[in-house]
Amino acid sequence: MTVKCYQCPAPAMYQVGEQNIPLCLDHYFKFSQILQQQIEDNERMINFAADQMSEISGLPPIGPRFPPRPRPVIVSGAKLNNISVNNSVVGTINTGSIGTVDQSISVLKQSGESQLAEGIKALSEAILQSGDLTKNQKNELIESLSVISREAVTPKEARQNTVAQSLLERCSKITGLANDVTDVCQKWWPVLIAAFTAATGG
Ligand SMILES: [Zn+2]
Repeated sequence: MTVKCYQCPAPAMYQVGEQNIPLCLDHYFKFSQILQQQIEDNERMINFAADQMSEISGLPPIGPRFPPRPRPVIVSGAKLNNISVNNSVVGTINTGSIGTVDQSISVLKQSGESQLAEGIKALSEAILQSGDLTKNQKNELIESLSVISREAVTPKEARQNTVAQSLLERCSKITGLANDVTDVCQKWWPVLIAAFTAATGG
């Protein structure tokens, strides 16, 4: 039996808090955004307190400040924290899919899957910026990547490996025809393919 999200009917993928509340990917993402915001607020408070102390005491500030955090980029209505592309590149590409890919990258980073996160980011950016891929090919690739990245954030035992594998196979065929994405693709498709190769005999 699948555990449902505490907030909606979607299957739960994560447990949060001391009570192990089950959450789906979307709600987990919202939850982690709130946590991130709280951390950022605390950093600003500490910076402010340090500045205030130095002003009152007349002494130079002691120790390093927290650096400002990068702002998310809004591209065609999608809020992107990871994928860096400009509006003109995105054009008519399905922004919902780009948003899903971007959210998944955040989750992968937080769960320590930095290789997968880096790979999905690099591939998305290369695909969106490619001059050799057609609009239709880009759309198919980004939509496939959104499905693949969702599978990547699913716990290993629940991943639909065969679905991901066949999408990855098709994606690498399409990008094989585009010269300006060759380097990125040769580096990262194999990493993704390996992630969905079910361990046997374990
Ligand atoms: Zn939910």
